[in-house]
Amino acid sequence: GQPLVIVRDLQKHFPVRGGVLGRTQAVVQAVDGVSFEVKKGETLGIVGESGCGKSTTARLLIGLIERDKGEIIFDGQGLGERLSLKDLRKDVQMVFQDSYASLNPRLTIEDSVAFGAKVQGLDDPNGRARSLMARVGLDPDRFAHRYPHELSGGQRQRVNIARALAMSPRLVVLDEAVSALDKSVEAQVLNLLSDLRKEFGLTYIFISHDLNVVRYISDRILVMYLGEVVEVAPVDSIWREQAHPYTRSLFSAMPSMDPDNRTQEPPLAGDPPNPIDPPKGCRFHTRCRFASEVCKTKVPKLMGLSGNADHLAACHLHDATSGHPKAGQGVPQ
Ligand code: SF4
Ligand code: MG
Repeated sequence: GQPLVIVRDLQKHFPVRGGVLGRTQAVVQAVDGVSFEVKKGETLGIVGESGCGKSTTARLLIGLIERDKGEIIFDGQGLGERLSLKDLRKDVQMVFQDSYASLNPRLTIEDSVAFGAKVQGLDDPNGRARSLMARVGLDPDRFAHRYPHELSGGQRQRVNIARALAMSPRLVVLDEAVSALDKSVEAQVLNLLSDLRKEFGLTYIFISHDLNVVRYISDRILVMYLGEVVEVAPVDSIWREQAHPYTRSLFSAMPSMDPDNRTQEPPLAGDPPNPIDPPKGCRFHTRCRFASEVCKTKVPKLMGLSGNADHLAACHLHDATSGHPKAGQGVPQ
């Protein structure tokens, strides 16, 4: 079927003040030419180090910040064309890392959950709120009249999930939504999210720096580096083979990675480059041990691996026409 979300060439550059006295203007290339699709009913995980542009991508997608360029197509309708931001927001909800900041401290839990549904004029917002509270594991008789500060982080995140669902979204964007929780609570909330997705026919974009969490919940994984997509693949495929050298480094840095699956990649050299002045050609070339001359000048395109078209990587090693000396032979073992 038709994907629920199509993003094409999304771009956002932020102006910042630089220089010793903050007098020079510079531009951070936060998101630069990002394209991907999200199928109906799937969970797309987005991973990458902080500052790689994953949160900015999510905020652009739901119109929290305005894009410079690019197309956002939701269920076949282009944002800013046939689809208004107001209509898009009826179908998309977001859950953030900070469960407390996301809630109005002066509203009771029931009123918080009901609020959005009320604003949208949905039927019986308070009844809806109470039944959703029960569904996320918060007994309405015990929790309805409490305030956010009286709840634990895990309970508050359940409130945020119920609040998002009260709006009857089709897409939920979860940005580090379980990252602040203890491991045991994290697992419970992940299971809840998985169940809710099936039950309500939802589609998720799940952003996290934690690969294990992303693996657990996602159908496909998208990897970002310095504002660009470097790899996107079904979970099993990327767990077997990390096609992009950056992805290999990310995976090998996972402390709990299965030793049998662990790539023997040396840790990443140096700091991430400054996004104000990203390297030319492949943005990863300053840290890549496979870099050759062509990597310094030519931007690699995201393309399907040979024999595995669902697994895409942006690296000259996988493009036999790129002029990379090892291209066409895959990543050297
Ligand atoms: Fe490394 Fe070149 Fe591939 Fe970039 S394109 S990841 S520098 S081999
Ligand atoms: Mg972030």
